[in-house]
Amino acid sequence: MMNQKLKIALQKSGRLSADSINLLKICGIKFDYNSGKLRAAAENFPLEIFFLRDDDIPEYVADKVADIGIVGENVLAETRRCCETIEKLGFGKCRLSLAVPKSFDYQTIKNLDGKRIATSYPNILSECLTKNNVAAEIHIISGSVEIAPSIGLADVVCDLVSSGSTLLTNGLREVETIFESEAVLIARPNLDENARAILDKLRFRINAANAAKQNKYILLNAPDEKLAEIVKLLPGIKSPTVLPLAERGWSSVHSVIGENDFWEIVEQLKDTGAEGILVLSIDQMIN
Ligand code: ATP
Ligand code: ZN
Repeated sequence: MMNQKLKIALQKSGRLSADSINLLKICGIKFDYNSGKLRAAAENFPLEIFFLRDDDIPEYVADKVADIGIVGENVLAETRRCCETIEKLGFGKCRLSLAVPKSFDYQTIKNLDGKRIATSYPNILSECLTKNNVAAEIHIISGSVEIAPSIGLADVVCDLVSSGSTLLTNGLREVETIFESEAVLIARPNLDENARAILDKLRFRINAANAAKQNKYILLNAPDEKLAEIVKLLPGIKSPTVLPLAERGWSSVHSVIGENDFWEIVEQLKDTGAEGILVLSIDQMIN
């Protein structure tokens, strides 16, 4: 089928929504998004987008209602659906942690023996307890897990944390991380050849956008006698581009540097004699 479309499931409204939609936008995929809609068709890419609750996404993908989806690894692990993880996406980072009230004398996970633990992640939690030989009672709560100890519903919580501030405001102390998570692109098993081809096209664009995010484009002017030293600081993709300036004895150097260490490199470049340093963000990086 030539006009086959790949169906992707995204979280309708929540912590992953904006980044998921943005990822498609960065990939140059145009679609009409307004918050009330449950589905949308891309205008310029063979993609149909479904907006769903995040908890339902692994099931929809495993059951072939959607071909691919974006969901947290935590939800994927908890629902235990048969989906293939295609790509980590670098957003929606969080951890599933055990937290105890300040008054709880916590030394090791063994201290949880016989305790009541409130969580929305019973499967991941029970796996962790079994592995550590701890017999605790799991209370499944679908939201606001952090208030369970203060209302007497549980002794301990097992909840998602990013900064930890929600735990702190509820008088809880994080004592153990049991699962680390970020958003991932998942696919149903046995995608047919056409679907696979569209997915590969999408992945190519995602990788280009992600590589671009991790790098910056740098331009600078350098006196020719310092060029060798400056070029050594700038490996670039292959090697930096060096062009003569109209002013004799000076050159312009262009290169790509990693997002993580660019400040450090910029300082060294300046010390070495570079001038007029410009650092630009990159939209796409295709290797
Ligand atoms: P839905 O209505 O779709 O079921 P939800 O309330 O279950 O939404 P959100 O709170 O929007 O879900 O979280 C979606 C995902 O975002 C989580 O499953 C997790 O992967 C990720 N996430 C990142 N940081 C956090 C955090 N601090 N707390 C909770 N989830 C986080
Ligand atoms: Zn949810």
